[in-house]
Amino acid sequence: MPSLTVTILGSGTCVPSLKRSACAVLIELNHQKVLLDCGPGTMRRLLEVGVAIFDLTHLGFSHLHPDHTGELVPLLFATKYPDSNQRQKPLTIFAGQGFKAFYQGLQSVYGRWIELPPDLLRLTELPVNKPATMAMDHFTLQSMPVEHNPESVAFRINSPDGKAVVYSGDTDFSADLVRLARGADLLICECAFPDAAKVPGHLSPSIAGEIAHSAEVAQLVLTHFYPVCEQADLVGECRQTYTGRLTLAEDLMQLRL
Ligand SMILES: [Zn+2]
Ligand SMILES: [Zn+2]
Repeated sequence: MPSLTVTILGSGTCVPSLKRSACAVLIELNHQKVLLDCGPGTMRRLLEVGVAIFDLTHLGFSHLHPDHTGELVPLLFATKYPDSNQRQKPLTIFAGQGFKAFYQGLQSVYGRWIELPPDLLRLTELPVNKPATMAMDHFTLQSMPVEHNPESVAFRINSPDGKAVVYSGDTDFSADLVRLARGADLLICECAFPDAAKVPGHLSPSIAGEIAHSAEVAQLVLTHFYPVCEQADLVGECRQTYTGRLTLAEDLMQLRL
């Protein structure tokens, strides 16, 4: 039986798309359900894979851009319907330093509409200037600052039986991401634009491939595709630098490790 299942819930961006929802990845291991990023549309995608919002145990945010955080408010509001009692276990939210101020900002706008009972919500901030390791329930979380926003971090989830999944969040080339991804079974890496259209703060296929190659990961999944990616030869560009297992993310794709 696989110890770890990864579901790409959203392989898209801020651009509305019926094919690609905004950023979200679900990682299931040992009865833990870890959602990484929660862009607009994520709750519908969770329904499509049969996961109730009340069963999420962890929610990690790579950074605070709306295509990664936009469904947080609707998720908290929905958790209160009709009376918060459907959530039996606490939700642990983790994100880079700055998240608590962001959350307080949301509270100042939405007040008790998004407030959960204190025993049901835990907020954990991760350093944005150095790596960190935290023991969670049934897995170990590692985080690393990456090159996008001041609060941006990438995540590595290590299962007790030695599997490792790394999620880049948004980033430009990052030697720290190479370090975090070293020897991982799977690297889910942003690839926002084709090589010819690369912008600062994001990756393109050949650079994502360079990171995967340098980190010697067993498998690379490219995701976070802006519409211009649909006409590009992403695989061909990535193959210039990476020869390992390579997949282009689609919404609702599942990988078992
Ligand atoms: Zn971003
Ligand atoms: Zn983004």
